[in-house]
Amino acid sequence: MKAIAATLNQPNGPFEIEEVEIAAPRAGEIRVAIKAVGICHTDLVVASGAMGLQFPAVLGHEGAGVVEEIGEGVASVRPGDKVLLTFNSCGHCDYCDRNEPAYCAHFMEKNMLCVREDGSSRLSRDGTMVHDNFFGQSSFASYAIANERNVIKLDDEADLAVLAPLGCGVQTGAGAVLLSLGAKAGESLVVIGAGAVGQSAVMAGKIADCSTIIAVEPQEARRRLASELGATHTLDGQGDVATQVREILPGGADMVVDTSGFMPVVGQTIAMIANRGRIGLVGLPGSLDAALSVPMIPLLTLGGTIRGIVEGDSLPEQFIPELIAHHRAGRLPVEKLCRTYPATNINQALHDMHEGETVKAVLLFD
Ligand SMILES: [Zn+2]
Ligand SMILES: [Zn+2]
Repeated sequence: MKAIAATLNQPNGPFEIEEVEIAAPRAGEIRVAIKAVGICHTDLVVASGAMGLQFPAVLGHEGAGVVEEIGEGVASVRPGDKVLLTFNSCGHCDYCDRNEPAYCAHFMEKNMLCVREDGSSRLSRDGTMVHDNFFGQSSFASYAIANERNVIKLDDEADLAVLAPLGCGVQTGAGAVLLSLGAKAGESLVVIGAGAVGQSAVMAGKIADCSTIIAVEPQEARRRLASELGATHTLDGQGDVATQVREILPGGADMVVDTSGFMPVVGQTIAMIANRGRIGLVGLPGSLDAALSVPMIPLLTLGGTIRGIVEGDSLPEQFIPELIAHHRAGRLPVEKLCRTYPATNINQALHDMHEGETVKAVLLFD
């Protein structure tokens, strides 16, 4: 059948709205009519070709929609169910077995390779293969084929346009604070970068009842939003950020979450933490060979921890319903980050995200 997709035909786009052919779901696969899809920073990094993407391709990994057709053996959803799509995992490696699918041994091929394991694709255009299966979904399209492992069933009344970003950006930022760093009431938190992931980390800090939440962000509008969402202090990221953090928290911060990947500031994080401070690195740096130089003696004597975090350590079938409950209770107002666009305006949406006019663009298909 036909689908309308925002196709990438060359590195950095532009995205072109084109008709593509989508195959029927195979065993374990689910065809979803996409209603809303958030644009995540990782889409843009991959679109640049820096991660080896082959073209043409369809990206998109914060899809939400309605199940239309299920492949053989699918038991968790039925046609008509509203669903949220998230990252994919294999379901049978050591890491999936211990409920850590973000560290699945097959994460790269399940999410980044943009073909099925047998090298085939579900999308084609005029008989030519279009790379898909990005994060097990490729949801910048009116239809996507997802896998049972990366589909979360929602209630019938779920607002898909609001919840779509929970599938990646929101669970990444909130999970980093609540799951990876295990924020406790009364602890202090520094969040570097106040894009969608950083704002989600700020909201999670408030959910955890952190005493001090410092958001570090160069754009003023994003600093204002962070304050509205729970940041007690904001810094613009200029100059000696670690000293500025210590003026607010003389003993240092219990937790630092970097969502920026901006090495001049990431390099200062060790100077921001308190004894037993935990640093979580979430943001992708701009270069594949970016390296962090860490002063060993402070790290050692403070008993500090630095760790990498993928998807906020989320076990999606458990964590996404928790996030939805926080949203319903008013503690996770994701709609404040988002602006919606008709999917055909994807290039305008990217422009607005780039210019800081919206933190999170959500594309709508009707
Ligand atoms: Zn696995
Ligand atoms: Zn993402």
